[in-house]
Amino acid sequence: MKFLAKARSLSVKRILQSRPALVTGREIHRLRAENARYRSLFDAAPIGHFTLDTSFRILEINSVGAAMLGTSAEDLHRTSFISNIISADRISVSNLLSEIAKVGERTVSTSLQVSDNTIPVMLHLTAVYSSGHTVPSSDYRFHVAILDLSEHHETQNNLRIARDGLQHVAHHDPLTRLPNRCGLMEQLRLTLDTKSNSKTALLLLDLDHFKQVNGPLGHHIGDKLLREVASRLLNAVSEIDTVGRLGGDEFAIILRDLSTASDATVIAEKITDALAEQYVSASYDIRLSASIGISVFPDHTDNPKQLLSFADAAMNQAKQRGRNLIQFYTAALNTRLTERFELERDLRIALRESQFELYFQPQYDIRAASITGYEVLLRWNHPEQGIIGPESFIEVVEETGLIDPLGDWILSESCKKLVELRRNNPNIKFSVNVSAKQFVSGNLQDRIARILQTTGVPANAIELELTESALLENGDHSLNMLQDLRAAGVELAIDDFGTGYSSFSRLQKLPVTRVKIDRSFVQDIPDNHSNCSIVKAIISVAHELGIEVVAEGVETHQQLEFLKAAACDILQGYYVGRPCTFEQISDNASFSKEESDLAVA
Ligand code: C2E
Ligand code: CA
Ligand code: CA
Repeated sequence: MKFLAKARSLSVKRILQSRPALVTGREIHRLRAENARYRSLFDAAPIGHFTLDTSFRILEINSVGAAMLGTSAEDLHRTSFISNIISADRISVSNLLSEIAKVGERTVSTSLQVSDNTIPVMLHLTAVYSSGHTVPSSDYRFHVAILDLSEHHETQNNLRIARDGLQHVAHHDPLTRLPNRCGLMEQLRLTLDTKSNSKTALLLLDLDHFKQVNGPLGHHIGDKLLREVASRLLNAVSEIDTVGRLGGDEFAIILRDLSTASDATVIAEKITDALAEQYVSASYDIRLSASIGISVFPDHTDNPKQLLSFADAAMNQAKQRGRNLIQFYTAALNTRLTERFELERDLRIALRESQFELYFQPQYDIRAASITGYEVLLRWNHPEQGIIGPESFIEVVEETGLIDPLGDWILSESCKKLVELRRNNPNIKFSVNVSAKQFVSGNLQDRIARILQTTGVPANAIELELTESALLENGDHSLNMLQDLRAAGVELAIDDFGTGYSSFSRLQKLPVTRVKIDRSFVQDIPDNHSNCSIVKAIISVAHELGIEVVAEGVETHQQLEFLKAAACDILQGYYVGRPCTFEQISDNASFSKEESDLAVA
């Protein structure tokens, strides 16, 4: 349109406006030259230009304009311009043209009708008065500039297709092709927005112990199973329902058009039956169960986000009650949800206001007959409730992602304390617990290296305690990270050994330096013969593999005797010493007595 304005000011205004009463030959020559320039501009413009009389007949047309209408300028001369507009817009364009006689100019989008084709265009309509002024006068013409939008439309179309594609990717899970969390929430919002008297149920489904299937069998089979689960879920519900995958082994189902809330239970039972059927292949033979949480619109809430959190609370309740269960959302769960929300908020405050503290539990080396290290244990010094153990909050810390900053604080604080302790006891080591979630963020090894460097603690003075699930959950990713850490000199221990699914053959592949036999095997030795055998077996195989063994939860003298006889390397437990503050452990005297007692034992 700028182009047109320029051409117009060059041509009509200057030629008409400046025409003198008497024109000299030189001026005629100049005017002709200017007119020719204007004509070529008029013709070459990538815009169709038309001049119309007051009856909208075409007086002048440039070649682009003629080409747009698929004919020659001569054939169009004095024909109706309006007849080239699609029939639906003819009246409105005529009205607009009549109007601009008064208002000067207008822009409108419409389409040209050329034979059987319609061409999307933008029209810029101007009234040009013969006096050269754009003020209303009885003597005027119309100037129409037409911009062909078909290419623009094509680009728009392509953009739309690309956008739709991206939208699809953003809303779908590539593995199962089901809507993902984003897609499912979109659907849920749309469903709840639709006015209806029927009920909508949201089912949240988590496969029980799927990680333990996925880990040993490998991700390839895990993926195959998830696709099979997706197809069983789709078969179990009706066409108006939506099945989505929220991530990992968690699925969600929107059940629409239910007359009663208990209809959802019937469908949920159908789903659990479908999932329970065997998954058979040459390499495996598996049965799966699921924990299902159900929330209902409008009974529980009309807010989609809340409906999801209610279903989630119900699902977690199903898991806690022993899995393979269907649980409806209840108001009592809401109380739990509120409590959990408050805990999350308080934990953030705790981190900000340094309410966390470290306790240290001694590890007694039987061979050296001395305390050679401490396990660092987290405590929350709550402003009202006092000291709180990690079992009541660590899960929430992990789920909220607070574990990353907190884990960094634990390690750097441990290192600072260790530097202090090593001034008097240069060989003392610390074992620091690392949760599975800390492995997910990806740069754990770099963060650890940085902390060791800034505090000046040698890598081999720190042992990281990892659970078997941490090692299983992240597969190769964890293994690479462990190898990097080990290569840097950091010691690695498997915590709670025996409670997970690690096998000795797997143990052999991991770069671990220690295993910690879980307290549950230690607590009833020497009376429980099978536990005695398990403990002896772990010790002997670990030693075969060159791995040290720590026994956890040693509380009695008999346990100590048994473990000593079984050639266990290190003991930890209340019998050796309870977790205590840094002040207590830096006071060497408090341990000298216990150490000598233990050595005598
Ligand atoms: P864990 O790593 O197995 O830690 C040992 C737990 O057993 C500690 O509980 C300890 O106080 C307790 N314990 C030690 N000796 C005995 C005993 O003789 N008898 C009995 N009954 N218990 C004993 P705590 O400190 O409550 O820690 C519980 C769990 O919380 C830990 O289990 C660990 O999984 C987690 N945790 C503790 N500190 C941290 C931490 O800094 N980071 C992370 N990620 N997790 C931590
Ligand atoms: Ca531990
Ligand atoms: Ca443990």
